[in-house]
Amino acid sequence: MSAYGERLEALAAHAADRCTGCGKCFEACPTAREIGLDPGEAKLRVGELLSLTRTAQPAAERLQSWLNACDGSARCTAACPEGINVRQWITIAKLSALERGRPREVGATNAANRFRHMAQAVRLLASMQLPSETLQRILAPAERRTTDVLFYTGCNVLRTPHIVLNVMDILDALGLDFDVVGGTAHCCGVYQFQEADLPTYERVGHRTFQRFGRSGASQVLTWCPTCTKNFDELEKDVEAPSFDLAHISEFLAANLEMLKARFGAEQPRRRVVIHEHLGIGATVSSIQTLLRAVPNVELLEIAQDSGFSYACGGQAAKFKGREQAIHRRLVEGAIAAGADTIVTMYHSCHRALAGAEAAYPIKVVNFTDVIAEALGRGGHPDYYQLYKRGGAMDEAVAAARRFLADNGVKVDESSVQSLTADIFDETGMAGPREAFRDAFTALARQP
Ligand code: SF4
Ligand code: SF4
Repeated sequence: MSAYGERLEALAAHAADRCTGCGKCFEACPTAREIGLDPGEAKLRVGELLSLTRTAQPAAERLQSWLNACDGSARCTAACPEGINVRQWITIAKLSALERGRPREVGATNAANRFRHMAQAVRLLASMQLPSETLQRILAPAERRTTDVLFYTGCNVLRTPHIVLNVMDILDALGLDFDVVGGTAHCCGVYQFQEADLPTYERVGHRTFQRFGRSGASQVLTWCPTCTKNFDELEKDVEAPSFDLAHISEFLAANLEMLKARFGAEQPRRRVVIHEHLGIGATVSSIQTLLRAVPNVELLEIAQDSGFSYACGGQAAKFKGREQAIHRRLVEGAIAAGADTIVTMYHSCHRALAGAEAAYPIKVVNFTDVIAEALGRGGHPDYYQLYKRGGAMDEAVAAARRFLADNGVKVDESSVQSLTADIFDETGMAGPREAFRDAFTALARQP
């Protein structure tokens, strides 16, 4: 076993040593309830978790179901009276159970296929929405950067790159010496970890983290909640980094006075509901703080299922019906409360809700749209939202034609089919898929 694997085992063993077996983590787990596991058996399930951690036995059947169902909500961690990072323990236990339950090659093949599919979609969508100069800046190797602050995008936010442009605008407005880094060459390795392909994970996610250190930056600002969770729990705890790590929303909230001094007084009147997800640091309270500081923004609070998952999609996509109900309840609740805008926290949530405008009288924007606009910046078109709303595609196609030529990338008809499935099969709200499919198929057929 590698030194990295041994360190993970040590983290799990330390959690097991501190655990009293009270079962409160299992009782609090929303996905265990979703699959029908009995909270009355909490102590039994935790006993099985302890045994998996302390022996080389395979996972017991119901423990395996619990591990498989986990979507990373961290409600277990919040419930633990001993202060144990139970989500981290569960994540490592899931890896151990998979390692014992099947040959590594099976997971390696799954991870490679998932990564390849994601990388192709991200490359195409980014090339359809960003100029080459910006894309090349983001993709350049991390270790060659010389700035003190790195804004790390991860991979998937490049499907909705206006968010990246907003953050760059905000950091520019603050006068920071920063650079932006991301794309699949800087992947956090989530697929390899989830599929228990630890050797490849170490060459991907672990290496990305080390490359940040080699750049000499003193601060890495994350965007993606999955990267943030992985780096917080699987990297920072394994090997102390030479830089500070924080989600961009936490960094901005910590620099609120600097932002407020730069906000324009004349902002559009908005009655806003934030689509909330607990589970990633102080992101919810940070985004609330930021929005409350924007002139003319009124923040409305409504009941929402914010503890079910740390973000939309990803591991929570296993529970399509539950996610759909969360989205519907959020949008209808926001409208009933008199909101005119839903503000998303993360890119996957933005993709899920961006199409709500096709069916409901409400706008959907990301929190970075509001902050960048308040600074007199932003205003970058949200082409993904145009795709998702399913209306006229002229503006989106014209932009894609221009950016694809600039990036030297061509789309073919099978890529359009694949992108259509990616965009419209994910859980969330959308208009008709035909508008995107037909307009971009026509683009692909052009010489
Ligand atoms: S992280 Fe969430 S889903 Fe996973 S075990 Fe903990 S409470 Fe359950
Ligand atoms: S809540 Fe904490 S102490 Fe109680 S069983 Fe879970 S991990 Fe152990």
